[in-house]
Amino acid sequence: MSARVASAVRAGIVVTGTEVLTGRVVDRNGPWLAERLRELGVDVAHNIVVGDRPQDVRDALGWLASAGMDLIVTSGGLGPTEDDLTAAVVGEFQGRPSALDEALEGRIWKILEGLMIRWPDLDEEAIRRSNRKQAMVPEGATVLEPVGTAPGLIVPPPASASSGPSVVVLPGPPRELQPMWRAAVETEAFKAATAGATVYRQHMLRLFGIPESEIANTMLQAREAGIDLDALEITTCLRRGEVEVVTRYEPPQQGIYDAFAGLVADRHPRELFSDDGTSVDEQVAELLRSSGRSIATAESCTGGLLAGRLTDLAGSSAYVLGGLVVYSNAAKTALAGVSPELIERTGAVSVEVAEALADGAIAAVGADVGVGITGIAGPGGGTEEKPVGTVCFSVAATDGSRVTRRLVLPGGRFDVRDRSTTVAMHLIRRVLRGEAAG
Ligand code: ATP
Ligand code: MG
Repeated sequence: MSARVASAVRAGIVVTGTEVLTGRVVDRNGPWLAERLRELGVDVAHNIVVGDRPQDVRDALGWLASAGMDLIVTSGGLGPTEDDLTAAVVGEFQGRPSALDEALEGRIWKILEGLMIRWPDLDEEAIRRSNRKQAMVPEGATVLEPVGTAPGLIVPPPASASSGPSVVVLPGPPRELQPMWRAAVETEAFKAATAGATVYRQHMLRLFGIPESEIANTMLQAREAGIDLDALEITTCLRRGEVEVVTRYEPPQQGIYDAFAGLVADRHPRELFSDDGTSVDEQVAELLRSSGRSIATAESCTGGLLAGRLTDLAGSSAYVLGGLVVYSNAAKTALAGVSPELIERTGAVSVEVAEALADGAIAAVGADVGVGITGIAGPGGGTEEKPVGTVCFSVAATDGSRVTRRLVLPGGRFDVRDRSTTVAMHLIRRVLRGEAAG
């Protein structure tokens, strides 16, 4: 859900690569570029993925130009092989004949020589040919120095045309594209192509434990309260069980945003956990770090996913002691010290076993905070009393505080396991903030 704010500069992205089109490689460039462009105040209208066929690349460029884009950014197809054709296609599309840039050829050759030391059997003549191909520069284009071996380009509209998009041509590998993008935005050519872009502010609110429809209600209320939401571009999205509300606006609308954010905070005081864009993972990390407390996990249905998530952030060794993966009942007993009688009496998926797992995690490694998770991820294993998606959580701390929950989470196996880690993160946060009952 998003209201559109008119913007002076609009952009389209063309991601090339048959491997991206088919999903063998997940597109990490289109969304990344879209975020960077938005930060610069450029409105991204389209992200088109095409295969490695020159006609398809040409069609995408033609369509974006006819739709009035001021800027097009391409990714991929700059390599030395036959199917790498983007630079040539873009030059032709912009009506700018390419010519060999000998100095650039020399610079690429230096990079290749360095690589050839490791591959002494390569055919030097073939490499020189592809080197020459990568050094062909359309007339009037700005060269972006290679990060790998391929240079990028900024190709202005045809000299004869009074308007039309500039095209920024970038390599496919994200580790090359990202540094080259940072260089591209500093060039005069890029600044000229995006002159007039509006500077926006962007803020994110994060809420947990609330359906997306509730945010829609809050927005209705905001309108009724006279807050001019049309001056804001609000996008809400449900992600990993949390609702993210991203708002973009021009600086003079700050007061309207503050009123809207204030209303969200008033209506959802418990659910709003982040008003500065920080994730629950970052908040948990900060709470552990600043309090000097350590954490350990004992996980059944999530099989270590929570421990993995806790260690995603750099610096987690300061507070993560370890985790037990206790998938079987035998492991729950042997590793986490859960008594077989308890499992027999309550079943392995029960709040009692979750509590025993949290205590077992603390005891196993001497942690200050322990987390126990046990549930039925599915697709099999559900019963009427404990359907698929039933997950029990307990977070205990050595100061005596504890939060325990039994929930039925929606979705398939992947969703249940992933959502369980999010629920656990929020329960950990609650305990660390002293919001748990003693
Ligand atoms: P190279 O010189 O490596 O051939 P290139 O500019 O020709 O560079 P591509 O051939 O399109 O780039 O892609 C090379 C590799 O980069 C792909 O196999 C893929 O692993 C990665 N890659 C390309 N595009 C994307 C993308 N949109 N998202 C993630 N990875 C990508
Ligand atoms: Mg390639």
